[in-house]
Amino acid sequence: MDLVVTVPHLPRPGETVLGQQLGRYPGGKGANQAVASARLGGQVAMVGRVGADDFGPELVQNLTANGVDASGVEPDNSAATGAALIYVGPDGQNMIAVAPGANARLDAADVGRAAARLRPGDLLVIQLEIPVAAIEKAVSAARHADARVLLNAAPAQRLDPGLLIQVDALVVNEREAAALVVLDGAARALVANERVGRAQDNAASPEAAVEALRAMGPRIAIVTLGPAGSVYCDETGVHRVEPFHVKSIDATGAGDAFVGALAVGLAHRLATQALVRFANAAGAAATTSLGAQAALPRLDDLRRLFGLDLSLSDQ
Ligand code: ADP
Repeated sequence: MDLVVTVPHLPRPGETVLGQQLGRYPGGKGANQAVASARLGGQVAMVGRVGADDFGPELVQNLTANGVDASGVEPDNSAATGAALIYVGPDGQNMIAVAPGANARLDAADVGRAAARLRPGDLLVIQLEIPVAAIEKAVSAARHADARVLLNAAPAQRLDPGLLIQVDALVVNEREAAALVVLDGAARALVANERVGRAQDNAASPEAAVEALRAMGPRIAIVTLGPAGSVYCDETGVHRVEPFHVKSIDATGAGDAFVGALAVGLAHRLATQALVRFANAAGAAATTSLGAQAALPRLDDLRRLFGLDLSLSDQ
């Protein structure tokens, strides 16, 4: 749950700032991406945990209202629901503290129950807001079930190389890409992989970063570049995908819209260029209205804004 207060300036340590009314918005990367995919026509089931407080049932209800199967979201009586405390200052600057709560307690049993539902051809979409052990178990369960894996490695943290080679598509924003390349480099790439080492020297270039990310093991690596669109690297090399031009109001949720659209595009087996273009469209559309989930587009919005249709976007 995102708890948001708009303040005249961001507080300094020890300072109390008088803000406006408290806003309460369903959030979390996993839930946002689940809703993003469902709005674009995906059949989505969410796995997670909520706490024994008022937020838990509210978040489950929100998923259900958005067409997401929330039967894999378990209540946890000994934890609070994960929450983000967000101050928004002038010019949209923000300060955020996350209390993971029940998210940090997602365990092997939750993953096991969910994995039993995976079928060949399904897609596991996963982020890094749950324990690494649960992530690793989910990814290997997906591979076992012949399902594909889309990993949004956010918030960035060092990942086991054994995990990344099991990933079909890895997606991160520019900051996360730089962090992942540096974290990976600290462990092995600088010495072991000259190519990654070179890319790391030039971390300012998204092309170099995406190439370095692919060298860590995923079949496709994608880096989102905000208003500049995105860049991907697959077996054919590095490619830029131009952004859709929109009147952008609030960039919150653009990344989650992008990932949700990637998931739907992967399920439709779009060719990579068309896939990333479709995701760019969803990301751009999400910036045209306020909020994270509230701004996530539907297929109709992409048709109206860009004349883009999922069935046609492969052409
Ligand atoms: P995050 O929210 O994770 O930082 P980005 O800001 O990179 O992610 O946005 C994700 C995607 O949304 C981008 O790759 C781009 O396609 C689209 N996007 C974001 N901001 C804009 C914008 N101002 N204009 C057009 N497209 C945008």
